[in-house]
Amino acid sequence: MSRVVVVGSGAREHALAWGLSRSADVVVVPGNAGIAAHGIACSTAPVADLEADLVVVGPELPLVEGLGDQLRATGRLVMGPNVDGAQLEASKAYMKDFLAAAGVPTAAYGTFTEPEPALAFLETMVAPYVIKTDGLAAGKGVLVTNSLDEARADVLDKLSGNAFGAAGSTVVIEEGLDGEECSLIVLCDGEHLFPLVTAQDFKRVGDGGTGANTGGMGAYAPMPHVAPETVEVIMSSILVPTLAELTRRGIDYRGVLYAGVMLTSKGPKLLEYNVRFGDPETEVLVPLYGDNLFEMLRATAAGELNDVNAEATGAAVTVVLASHGYPESSRSGDVITGLGDDGQLASPIGGVVVFHAGTARNEQGHFVTNGGRVLAVTAIANDVTSARALAYRAVDQISFDGRVVRRDIALAASKGSA
Ligand code: AMP
Repeated sequence: MSRVVVVGSGAREHALAWGLSRSADVVVVPGNAGIAAHGIACSTAPVADLEADLVVVGPELPLVEGLGDQLRATGRLVMGPNVDGAQLEASKAYMKDFLAAAGVPTAAYGTFTEPEPALAFLETMVAPYVIKTDGLAAGKGVLVTNSLDEARADVLDKLSGNAFGAAGSTVVIEEGLDGEECSLIVLCDGEHLFPLVTAQDFKRVGDGGTGANTGGMGAYAPMPHVAPETVEVIMSSILVPTLAELTRRGIDYRGVLYAGVMLTSKGPKLLEYNVRFGDPETEVLVPLYGDNLFEMLRATAAGELNDVNAEATGAAVTVVLASHGYPESSRSGDVITGLGDDGQLASPIGGVVVFHAGTARNEQGHFVTNGGRVLAVTAIANDVTSARALAYRAVDQISFDGRVVRRDIALAASKGSA
C-alpha cells in the first residue's frame, strides 16, 4: 500500500487522513487526540524523516515557509505549492496585483502602507467598506462594514501594527461586492485543472451571518443552486487565466487553488485565493469522493491530473462546535460528553463522522476542548436537506460547557433543494 504523510493538526487534516486511509497507509504530523483515537497514526517526527509516497500539506503556513520546496528537493511528491505559488495566499497585495496581470475579475482595490493616502482612498469608496490585512491572519484579518468611521479606525489600527503585527502593516482597501459566496476548490498539477464540487462555508460566528469573522463555523457541498454553467464561467474567467499567469511567471503550481468567489449580478468575481484545502470545506468535500481521494491527490502532485475522472456523489454538511469565547478567545479543558473512546459518537448515527479540530484527553481519558474550533460534525446523505438533519441530530448528542454553534448551517440551501 502507498504511504501518505498528512501535515497538520485540525479537522481538515482529520478529514483528509480519513479519506486517504481508504486506499493508503496514512500518518498525520502532528495530528491530534481525536485523529489518533480514530485509529489513524500520528507522529511528531520531522516530516522529512518519514517515508512517504506522497506528502499532503494541510495548512498554509508550512507552504509559505517553504516545506514544499524542501521536500521536493529530496524527491518527494508533494500536494501543495512551493513558496513562489504560496504567495497567492501569503500576501493579498501580491494576489491582487497577480489577478490584475492575469485579467481575473475581482474587486477594485488599493494597497497602502501609510495612513494618509489610505484614508484618502477610503473616502472615494462607497459602503460596504472592506479592509484587509496584507499577510496571513487565519481568516480573521478582514473587516466588512457600512460605517465609514469604523473603516477609518480599522485602517489606522491595522497600519499601526497593533492588530496583526507585521501581517497588518500593509492594508488592502477593496470595493465591497454583493452576492452569494461560493468556494471552488480546484486541484492544479501545474498544467491541468480539476474542480471539485462547489462548497459554501459560514464565516461569521452568529446565526444569519452576524458577529465576528471566524476560521469557519460550518459548510456544505455541493451548492444545489449553483448551475454547472456557473462553474464553467468560474473556471474559464478565473482559474484558466490564473494558471496561464502562473505559467507565465514560471511557477509550477501543484496543489489546491481554492477560489473564494462572489457570485455578483455582473458575474463571478474572485475574493481571494487560498493555496490549500479549505477548513471546514474539506470536511464536506472529502466524503463525496469516496475511494478516489488518494489517486486525485497523488495525480495532482505527480502532474497526472489529466488521467483523473472522479465524480462526487451525494451531499455533506458539517457543523463546527467551538469553545467558550470563540473567536475572540478560546477555552481549553471543558469535558466533552457524547463521544466514545474512538472520538466518534457514543451512540453512532449512520452517515455521521466527527472530525476533531481541537481536542485533547484529560487524565481520566475523557475528551476535552483544546482550542477555538473543537469538532466538525459531518453528515453524508443523498442531498443537503437530509445531510443537514443528520448533522444536527449528531450535534445535539455532543455537549460541553460554553459550546459555540450555529444553528443555520446549510439552512437556506436545504430549503431550496427540499
Ligand atoms: P477573504 O479572507 O478575503 O476571503 O475575506 C473574508 C470574508 O470577507 C469573505 O469570505 C467575504 O465574506 C468578506 N469579503 C472579502 N472581500 C469582500 C469584498 N470585496 N466585498 C464583500 N465582502 C468581502
